[in-house]
Amino acid sequence: MILDGKSFSAKIKQQVKEEVKTLLDNGFKVPTLAVVIVGDDGPSQIYVNNKKNACAFVGIKSVSVELPATTTQAQLEEKLKKLNSDKTINGILLQLPLPKGLDERSALNCISPIKDVDGLTNLSLGKLTSGETCLTACTPTGVISLLKEYNVCLSGKNVVIINRSNLVGKPLAHLMLNENATVTVCHSRTIDVSFYTKHADIVVTAVGKQNFLTADMIKKGAVVVDVAIVRKENGICGDADFENVSKKAKLITPVPGGVGPLTIATLMQNTVKAYKLQNGIK
Ligand code: NAP
Repeated sequence: MILDGKSFSAKIKQQVKEEVKTLLDNGFKVPTLAVVIVGDDGPSQIYVNNKKNACAFVGIKSVSVELPATTTQAQLEEKLKKLNSDKTINGILLQLPLPKGLDERSALNCISPIKDVDGLTNLSLGKLTSGETCLTACTPTGVISLLKEYNVCLSGKNVVIINRSNLVGKPLAHLMLNENATVTVCHSRTIDVSFYTKHADIVVTAVGKQNFLTADMIKKGAVVVDVAIVRKENGICGDADFENVSKKAKLITPVPGGVGPLTIATLMQNTVKAYKLQNGIK
C-alpha cells in the first residue's frame, strides 16, 4: 500500500488555510514568510516558486528576498539579521544550497530560532536533541506526520535511517527517539547497511542513488519511506527499487508523490506555528 504524501499534503495545506482564516477572523495580521534566495540555482528557483504557491494557497504572505550570487557572507548575514528584527516577518527560510564560498551553517545560525521555520539553526537542532518544544526541520517532520496519518506505530519499533545529514537524518533520528522508536543511523561508512535494514520495522532512505534500496534489503511487511530525490531525464525517482520493494513492504512512499510534497506542507505549518509562538497564541 502507498503512503500517499500528495493527498496528505493537500489535507495539511487545507488545515493550515483554515487556521490562517481563523487568525484573520480574530483580528490577527497575515502570517508572513520571508524566502531568501542567493544566486540563480535552477532547482532552487523551482523550490522557491513551489513554496510561494503554497503560501498563496494557504493565505500566508510570502516576501521574496533575492540576492545576487556575488553576495558576501557579511551582506547575507546582515540581511538575515534585519529580517529577524522586522516585526512584519514571522518566518525566515534561507534556500539551500548557497553559492560556493558562502558558509551555510554560519548564515543559518543568524536566523532567530523563533523565526526558524526550517528548523535548521544550531539552537533549533539543539532544542530538538534535548526534547524541548521548537520549530523542527520540515522534511523529517513531514515523515513523522505521514507515518502518524497512516497509524504507523513508532513506539518500540526498530527504525533504520540511511542518512546522517543535518537536513534529514540527524533531526529525523531525534524526532523518532522522541516517539520512542529504537533508532539506527546508517551512512556511507556503514559496513553493511543491509544487516541493519533487514531487521528494521521502518526503513527511511535518503541517499540519492537510484535502486540503492533493493527488496532483499528489507524484511517482509516493513514500512519504507523514500526521502531521496534522484533527477533523471524523464522526471525524478527515489532510492528504492520501487517495483520490487513495494511488493515486499507493507507501506511505501512513491517518488514523486511521497515525502516531497510534505516538506512544503510542513513549512506552511511551521510558519503558522512560528506566528502563534510570536503572538502568544496556543
Ligand atoms: P546528503 O547530505 O548528500 O546525504 C546523503 C546521505 O547518504 C549521507 O548521510 C551519506 O553518508 C549517505 N550515503 C551516501 N552513500 C551511501 C551509501 N553507499 N551507503 C549508506 N549511506 C550512504 O544529502 P541530503 O541533503 O541529506 O539529501 C539526501 C537525499 O534526500 C537527496 O536525494 C535529496 O534530494 C533528498 N531530499 C529530499 C527532500 C524532500 O523534500 N523529499 C528534502 C531533502 C532532501 P555520509 O554522511 O557518510 O556522506
